[in-house]
Amino acid sequence: MIYGSNSALVYLPNLLLMYCKNILETIGNTPLVKLNKVVEGVNATVLAKVETFNPGNSIKDRMALKMIEDAEKSGKLKPGGTIIEGTSGNTGMGLAIAAIIKGYKCIFTTTDKQSKEKADALRAFGAEVIICPTNVEPEDPRSYYSVSARLGKEIPNSFYVNQYDNLSNRQAHYEQTGPEIWEQTEGKITHLIVGAGTGGTITGTGKFLKEKNPNIKVWGIDTYGSALKKYHETGVLDKNEIYPYVTEGIGEDFIPENYDFSVIDHFEKVTDKDAALMTREIVRKEGIWVGNSAGSAVAGLLQMKDKLKPTDVVVIIFHDHGSRYLAKIFNDEWMRAKGYFDKKGMTAADIVGSKKNVELITAGVNQTVGEALSIIHQNNFSQLPVTREGRIVGNITENHIYSELIKNPELKNKPVETIMEEAMPFMDIHTPVDTLSDTLCKQNQAVIVKDFKADRNYIITRQDMVDVLC
Ligand code: PMP
Repeated sequence: MIYGSNSALVYLPNLLLMYCKNILETIGNTPLVKLNKVVEGVNATVLAKVETFNPGNSIKDRMALKMIEDAEKSGKLKPGGTIIEGTSGNTGMGLAIAAIIKGYKCIFTTTDKQSKEKADALRAFGAEVIICPTNVEPEDPRSYYSVSARLGKEIPNSFYVNQYDNLSNRQAHYEQTGPEIWEQTEGKITHLIVGAGTGGTITGTGKFLKEKNPNIKVWGIDTYGSALKKYHETGVLDKNEIYPYVTEGIGEDFIPENYDFSVIDHFEKVTDKDAALMTREIVRKEGIWVGNSAGSAVAGLLQMKDKLKPTDVVVIIFHDHGSRYLAKIFNDEWMRAKGYFDKKGMTAADIVGSKKNVELITAGVNQTVGEALSIIHQNNFSQLPVTREGRIVGNITENHIYSELIKNPELKNKPVETIMEEAMPFMDIHTPVDTLSDTLCKQNQAVIVKDFKADRNYIITRQDMVDVLC
């Protein structure tokens, strides 16, 4: 080793050099940082496990490497192979980094809901990224789950990772995240709060900590539009719980195998708006640049603060970095368009309150086009949301039905599913009227307005807006 500066050059043959052999060795051992201003009013010590310090800027580096190493050991991944995965970005980043060091190719599928930057970042690491539609069932051949599973079968010498059902995911957190938190808090942790998606982080970390101290409470953070909380509470995968949401990284519309629900004491749901606003607060008040699920987790903690006492030590996981959300949460225009900035004045709730007939009337996918048309006529509607097992999956308008019937009168006896169009957009009941009217002015005749906390849906049409505003 040669030392420069003003001193003479010195050769130190026995110097112990401190370096990582490659970037993968920097994964893990992330810091625990006390939160101060965003948790003012919470009677407990709240510590954030800041996972942005991993080389891919997210907690997912841990499980990505573990899934690859376990696949190498079991022979599922062979030298020069192709790694295939459906990923919203963070797992992809971890896999892409490991693939570079280990000499594999990567193909990722993701959804059109995810930030564009996330896909671009994966491409920067040499991965191929295929964008798939969000608003289709997981079993639909176009869904990002199905496309990645299919490619895994078609491409020779490939390994389909499947982070949802690959138990190396939760094992990584059992082996690393859990022990780190236990050591960093010297066993004093009383509560773990984790945004839950595949279930790997909450199950692995929670299981380790509960084995150390069964009194530790594990609270999962879920989002409105996801089926996790209801499933945890009832054992039923209720399709009514499922609808498109904005929050990224957490919530699921199916139950991945990585879950062990016995480890989880409670799920708290947080709205898209509360999560987005809190994500910005964390950056501005704590100086920690985090992503969407960190905002969900802190907002969820605030919702549950009355369950805590001063001696409690809460550890909350900050999964990923805010730089991935520059075009969304950290973009004022995007926040405004979503109606997340509070404004004085009228909101969707006022319009709902002023309507005489507020009950949401729908047609089931299997009802005939003729039946749907009579519902439309009886109620003097111009359109109707279409549901499958109670979940809104599409929309039909009177105009569209007529134009299809003119082409093919036989359609009258066919299920409405055959001609339904895309479901109308969902908006929060607190959305300001100007944001609502922007959405209604574009291609949408109507929007579904959700009161997340009361669990009720309403429809607001252009005519309703006109009635109220004029
Ligand atoms: N937050 C973010 C930003 C994520 O990408 C994920 C992974 N989907 C999670 C939270 C949830 O973690 P897990 O999949 O381990 O449940």
